[in-house]
Amino acid sequence: ISPVELTQGFLDRISQFDDTLHCYITVEAQQALAQAQEATRRLASGRATPLTGIPLAIKDLIVTQGLRTTCASRSLENYVPPYDATVMHRLREAGAVILGKVNMDEFAMGSSTENSAFGATRNPWRLDCIPGGSSGGSAAAVAADLCLASLGSDTGGSIRQPASHCGVVGLKPTYGRVSRFGLVAFASSLDQIGPITKDVADCALLLQFLAGYDPKDSTSAPVPTPDYSQALNQDIKGLKIGVPQEYFIAGMEEEVEQAVRAALETFKGLGAELVEVSLPHTQYAVAVYYLIATAEASSNLARYDGVKYGFRAAEANDLMDMYCATRAQGLGAEVRRRIMLGTYALSAGYYDAYYKKASQVRTLIRRDFDEVFQTCQIVATPVAPTTAFRLGEKMDDPLTMYLSDIFTISANLAGIPGISVPCGLNSGGLPIGLQLLARHFDESTLLKAAHAFE
Ligand code: GLN
Repeated sequence: ISPVELTQGFLDRISQFDDTLHCYITVEAQQALAQAQEATRRLASGRATPLTGIPLAIKDLIVTQGLRTTCASRSLENYVPPYDATVMHRLREAGAVILGKVNMDEFAMGSSTENSAFGATRNPWRLDCIPGGSSGGSAAAVAADLCLASLGSDTGGSIRQPASHCGVVGLKPTYGRVSRFGLVAFASSLDQIGPITKDVADCALLLQFLAGYDPKDSTSAPVPTPDYSQALNQDIKGLKIGVPQEYFIAGMEEEVEQAVRAALETFKGLGAELVEVSLPHTQYAVAVYYLIATAEASSNLARYDGVKYGFRAAEANDLMDMYCATRAQGLGAEVRRRIMLGTYALSAGYYDAYYKKASQVRTLIRRDFDEVFQTCQIVATPVAPTTAFRLGEKMDDPLTMYLSDIFTISANLAGIPGISVPCGLNSGGLPIGLQLLARHFDESTLLKAAHAFE
């Protein structure tokens, strides 16, 4: 099959199914087909890479030159970036085909993709359910074959949780592994871009192109990128897998716990050794995250003021009035809630009690992992306490929504890599995900273990 046929095949599926699923915010058929033609020429001339001609979907907060990038927000509805994110530059250099930009919670704030200004995405496994979030469009598009693979971003679980809810593979790399240049910032000390794919081999392949030092991102790590595909076929005999008691909690769906415990047995059968471990500060992770993430967001989102770029309210009497109207009309309810929370946590008189305290507890959470990784190489947990819930079910209850990230958030606070791999279906036919976590920059062991399991 040629890149043009492949791309056309996906474009046809998008026309057929995306009215229902609503994975895409922007599809650029002509651009995609032109890239596919270029890929064909490249294949013929022997300059191809494994990504040449591969049709991808990109979460709509990764900036793409000449291709609208909305962050699923009214405030950036018509924003066409003048430059490419570093990851986009790398994908284009490799000859990938970009089908379009996919849906998400506005500015990546959410767990269900319902906070999009362009309407929710549906879960391909059950249309009355959410696909997870915030990279819900990226995960649903892979699950429904509306692209071959996609990019998401993960600040507190936004790659792993939707991958889990849609039955696909999602990897959040180590903080610093993948450049954030051109990733619209939500919480800069937590954000990472990563791949969402059909299987672990594709995940390793895509990560190979994304990873690597970038002088344009001051938090990018100057570490070499290993050959991830090579890690895949090593066996896992003797691999020590830690099972933290704090991740099997009251209130989680029984079938989720059963599926994850069954997965652990599979690992045992493959020769891995299970060890009970403890991450004692886990109980503080959600509170710490919602202070740090909102604090950073309140600062990062100050730029959407109607002056520099993006949406500006039409009617205003003076400058202050224009700022207020622009932000009230341009930003959705969840985004405004978080800006207010974060501004409060950073304000004089409250900074020490909230932001500073949260940063201190964040260090304790990171140390928990340092400690545990003395005795094991991998930590295995569920991705989320439940399978995908119904559209609308948690929309009026932000606190319950925040709890859907309880198992994924700690990895971002600690900066360690994590992968979500499918580990079964519940009786309602909805996918369940297993989360594996590893030491900083040890994506290879993560991929090796995930590949052995799948
Ligand atoms: N669901 C979490 C939040 O709402 C995580 C989002 C993310 O990882 N971008 O903040």
